[in-house]
Amino acid sequence: MTSPLRLSRVFALTALASLATHLHAAVGDTRVATWKDNRTAVFMLMFDDGWPSHFQVAVPELEKRGMIATFYICPAKGEFKTQSKEWDKVAATKMVFADHTMTHQGVKDMANAEYEIGECATIIRKLQPGKENRLVSFGMPGVGPGKWNINGAQLKELLEKHHLVSRPPFEGHGAVYHQKTFEEMIALADKAIAKKGIEYLVAHGVERIKPDWGYQDMWPLKQTIFLPLLDALKERSDRGDLWITDHISQHQYATERDGATVKTLKVIPNGIQLEVKSSADPKLYDHPLTLITEVPAQWRECNISQGSVQSRATAKNGVLVFDVSPNGPPVSLWPATTP
Ligand SMILES: [Zn+2]
Repeated sequence: MTSPLRLSRVFALTALASLATHLHAAVGDTRVATWKDNRTAVFMLMFDDGWPSHFQVAVPELEKRGMIATFYICPAKGEFKTQSKEWDKVAATKMVFADHTMTHQGVKDMANAEYEIGECATIIRKLQPGKENRLVSFGMPGVGPGKWNINGAQLKELLEKHHLVSRPPFEGHGAVYHQKTFEEMIALADKAIAKKGIEYLVAHGVERIKPDWGYQDMWPLKQTIFLPLLDALKERSDRGDLWITDHISQHQYATERDGATVKTLKVIPNGIQLEVKSSADPKLYDHPLTLITEVPAQWRECNISQGSVQSRATAKNGVLVFDVSPNGPPVSLWPATTP
């Protein structure tokens, strides 16, 4: 039998525990989510060399699942040139193009590197227009011995000049080459979730069943691995564990987040005002940041306004998760319906 005394002690302890939680988080307290939409980790799919199986198989399968990937193209390479109409169609989707040099043949000297790297970036910004000098991802092509004839400092100079950002290394991340089975590939994603960090897979060809061209692209990733992998990644995305995105979005978010400061300007019973700054250059780093703000427990549907930009989000258990632009005007939050 439970005595009334014990029940009241349990109650008192519960009340203390909840008081402790509230002491840690006051209304208006705000932090920047580690990743977009407060997802646990990031996973990036990358496809190299502009193989036809990318638009034949990879792009439609990604689109079916509402997912995106980064495509490292070589605009002067044979397969790309003969299929340029198909690549124009890919350019109009949500897929993101990245610089893998014009020809994939290496660089002879600085002048040739300017063409190989710089011209590729120019073509990408024409195929997928956006802000002037917007950041583009760069993936170093694997070339034979003696074919890459500029040094690290020269490469860095060119990347900076053309607003290119190097992707993380291919080593250990090549589908078919390093990562051979479905289990190995999905383990990368689960590793990202466990460390709340980033992981990625770099694919070359994807197995082509239809249309049957009688041959496969380089290092074709079997569809019996590729399709279940996409499904397993989507499942992790749907449950909020993975942000599946392109390299530049991940890079922008991390840079803005690491340089961000949030100030609570005002807390009144029916409103909160915040200021969000980031040391990242807003011309190049303009990805929305996700904020997590403690709001009064009774708030549900909330309005968010930042200058002329308005949005809505639903608070859960006194916590509101929403997107803002760093270095924009102050952010106001208030309940859409008076509780
Ligand atoms: Zn390559």
